[in-house]
Amino acid sequence: QGEEIVQNLGKVIEENSLENEVQVVRTGCFGFCEKGPVVKMVPDNTFYVQVTPEDATEIVSEHLVKGRKVERLLYTDPETQERVSESKDMGFYKKQIRIALRNCGFINPENIDEYIARDGYAALGKVLTELTPEEAIKVIIDSGLRGRGGGGFPTGLKWDITRKVEAEQKYVVCNADEGDPGAFMDRSILEGDPHAVLEAMAINGYCTGASKGLIYIRAEYPLAISRLKIAINQAREYGLLGEDIFGTGFSFDVELRYGAGAFVCGEETSLIHSMEGLRGEPTVKPPFPSESGYKGMPTNVNNVETYANIPVIILEGAEWFSSIGTEKSKGTKVFALAGKVNNVGLIEVPMGTSLREVIFDIGGGIKDGKKFKAVQTGGPSGGCLTEKHLDIPIDYDNLLACGSMMGSGGMIVMDEDDCMVSVAKFYLDFTVEESCGKCAPCRIGNKRLYEMLDKLTEGKGTEEDLTLLRNLSNVIKDTSLCGLGQTSPNPVLSTMENFADEYEAHVRHGK
Ligand code: SF4
Repeated sequence: QGEEIVQNLGKVIEENSLENEVQVVRTGCFGFCEKGPVVKMVPDNTFYVQVTPEDATEIVSEHLVKGRKVERLLYTDPETQERVSESKDMGFYKKQIRIALRNCGFINPENIDEYIARDGYAALGKVLTELTPEEAIKVIIDSGLRGRGGGGFPTGLKWDITRKVEAEQKYVVCNADEGDPGAFMDRSILEGDPHAVLEAMAINGYCTGASKGLIYIRAEYPLAISRLKIAINQAREYGLLGEDIFGTGFSFDVELRYGAGAFVCGEETSLIHSMEGLRGEPTVKPPFPSESGYKGMPTNVNNVETYANIPVIILEGAEWFSSIGTEKSKGTKVFALAGKVNNVGLIEVPMGTSLREVIFDIGGGIKDGKKFKAVQTGGPSGGCLTEKHLDIPIDYDNLLACGSMMGSGGMIVMDEDDCMVSVAKFYLDFTVEESCGKCAPCRIGNKRLYEMLDKLTEGKGTEEDLTLLRNLSNVIKDTSLCGLGQTSPNPVLSTMENFADEYEAHVRHGK
């Protein structure tokens, strides 16, 4: 529909001879998926929601020609029933701070000039002309930025480890193999602001001593791939990638590598094997990729969102970034808010925001007036949190302490009608499908877990199954080779912990 809206707007603008005054710009995602497609009028910032291709005529004739807002296309505040015309006044946006998503919905991602106009590549210029690699890394360390792909490892420290390893060739890798069910954070950043990732990778190359960058991206993301290709070509044309950038003697270029949709390839060592043309299977760490990665060379792997934060941190400083968030989790986090929530969408909030604020203030509460039951954070590796966790500030450590995890940012909300045993079964089904099969606890154990959950939901489970379920989950956690297996029983354990009554009910009353 978006494409049709763009075509129609262009046509009507031409019919009204406004083509020299008004431009229609395709941007990346605004985040408010529930109310899309969105058309934002600039410079007055009017935010039209749920626009259809047929609305193009009225938008042009009323807004552009007569200077009157099209009231029926404005957002209606669910509480006051008043029309709201700017996004900053909408509940969905009020508590958000956009750092990683700063350009999504603002610039044409296929036009490097628009990125440059918003200080794009200024951070690269700054590190190349004003900072040594050590000084630039210190900024990242002092900012407190931690890896947004799930692990939460301090980013600056990772860069420093790669920098210190002596090698003829080093690599910078961007992990864009987003695979959690319901997650689309990385896709939106790449579709909306691809240059931010390229700039950050070049900064990383300067800091770690790497001249080659590789983006490992899912082949199922054709728009992100196409925009990345355009961005790479434009950056090369502008001399921002390639030989002797800014005449400083620093050379760096980026290539794409495609993943075939295996969830396990989001794990660093599998990802590297896949890029090398091998089977996408994890290997034991150490050695870590920072020391021995792609083709056995030191390789720094960060995910898309981590990179998207880098240019702003360099420009605004470590102190600014570390002033946002909690003591041990600095900055913001992007979440893909989905499930039984009124405002499904992509959000970015300061670390420390509570789940209640995310689900009720930003998410607008539960659909159809139903009661909140649980929220799954961290995707298939995470756990289900309940009412009692709603006021806990979201950060890496708090989520772990509650039996879940940050993960890459998937957040699925469930209501009173959802059966938590079936939810655990859904995630297990995903894990069984995605296990690479290299080690027995994950390959066989998860299959057995799934079968037990299936038996329970079919009303054939016994008390003994519940004991077995818990014991086997703990064995899989303790003995699996990689993070996928080590975290796969989390949805089972967290639902058994928080919704024991539902497991019991299946045993006593059947389905
Ligand atoms: Fe493969 Fe699972 Fe073992 Fe990881 S834990 S190596 S995904 S079988």
